[in-house]
Amino acid sequence: KRILITGGTGFIGQVLCRELLSRDYELTVFSRQPAENVRAFCGRVEAVRDLDQLRAHPGFDGVINLAGEGIADKRWSEQRKKELRDSRIAVTEKLVQVIHSWEKQPEVLVSGSAVGFYGDQGSSVVTEQTQPRDEFTHRLCRDWENAAMPVTDDGVRLCLSRTGVVAGRGGGFLSRMILPFKLGLGGRLGSGRQYMPWVHRDDVVNALIWMLEKTSATGPFNVVSPNPVTNREFTRCLGEVLNRPTLFPAPAPVLKLALGEMSRLLLTGQQAYPENLTHAGFQFKYPELAPALRNSVGQE
Ligand code: NDP
Repeated sequence: KRILITGGTGFIGQVLCRELLSRDYELTVFSRQPAENVRAFCGRVEAVRDLDQLRAHPGFDGVINLAGEGIADKRWSEQRKKELRDSRIAVTEKLVQVIHSWEKQPEVLVSGSAVGFYGDQGSSVVTEQTQPRDEFTHRLCRDWENAAMPVTDDGVRLCLSRTGVVAGRGGGFLSRMILPFKLGLGGRLGSGRQYMPWVHRDDVVNALIWMLEKTSATGPFNVVSPNPVTNREFTRCLGEVLNRPTLFPAPAPVLKLALGEMSRLLLTGQQAYPENLTHAGFQFKYPELAPALRNSVGQE
C-alpha cells in the first residue's frame, strides 16, 4: 500500500517511516528539505517538496499528516504563533485540497493534534469527551483538527491523534531535560503538581499505524500512556533512572520570565487518559514510566 506522510522527517516521523517501510508500505514524504536529506532521515522513500506536485497523482491508500513547527522551539511572539498555526493549518488545508483533487480517495487520513487541545485542566481526568479550556494551544489544535474535517465529505475516514508529551531517544522534550539532570541540577517545574501526559514514541508510532490500518477507527484519540504522572513524580522517576539527585526546582516566576506564555507548556497540563484507544483494544508497549524513560535515555 502507498502512504503519503507530512512531517515524516521529524522526531516521530522518522521512526514512523522506518516502521512502515519494514511492514512493506511504499512511502512518499512531503518535506521542505532536499530528497537526499529526507532519505537519510526516513529510509527508502520518495520525497516531494511541494504538495501541489501531487495534484496529478493517481492517489494514495492512506495519508498521515504530522507537519508543524516545533511548539517549544521559540518564545511565542505573535509572529511565532502565526508560524505555529500556518505550518499546521495552512499545510493541512492544502493537503485536504490536494486529496480532494485525486481521482481515487484514500481510505484514511490520520491527522495530528495534541493534548494541548484540552488546555490547562488542573488535576481533573481528561478523556476525549472532556470540554476544552480556551487558550492558545486549544485554538491551535482545534483549528488544526477542523482543517482536516472536510475529507470526511469525500468519504475518507478521519482519525485525529491528540498526542501527549513524547519520550524517545535522540530528541523531543527529554533531550532538553537530560543534561541538567545528568549534571545533578534537575528538579521539579513550578509546584510540580501539574500533570504530564507522557507517552513513549514507539507507542505513538504504533498508535498511528493502528489508526491507519484499523478500518473501524475514527475521530479523536488521546495518544498518551495509560499512566499520566505529575511533574513531581516524573522528576523523581527521571532522577532515579539517571541515578542523580533532583533538588533544584525551577520556580514558576523564573520560568514565566524566561519563557513568557510558552511557560504554560511546562507549568500546566492534563491528566489525560487514552480512553478511545483502550476501549478499542490498543495495547501499549510502554504503559509504565520507568521502563519508558530507561529506554529513552539509552539504558536498554
Ligand atoms: P518535529 O519538530 O520533530 O518535526 C516536525 C516536522 O514538521 C518536520 O518533519 C518538518 O519537516 C515539518 N515542518 C515543520 N515546519 C514546517 C512547515 N512550516 N511547513 C511544512 N512542514 C513543516 O515534530 P515531532 O515529530 O516531534 O511531532 C510531529 C507532530 O506531532 C508535530 O506537528 C507536533 O506538534 C505534534 N506533537 C508532537 C509532540 C511531541 O512531544 N514530540 C507532542 C504532541 C504533538 P521538514 O523540515 O522536512 O519540512
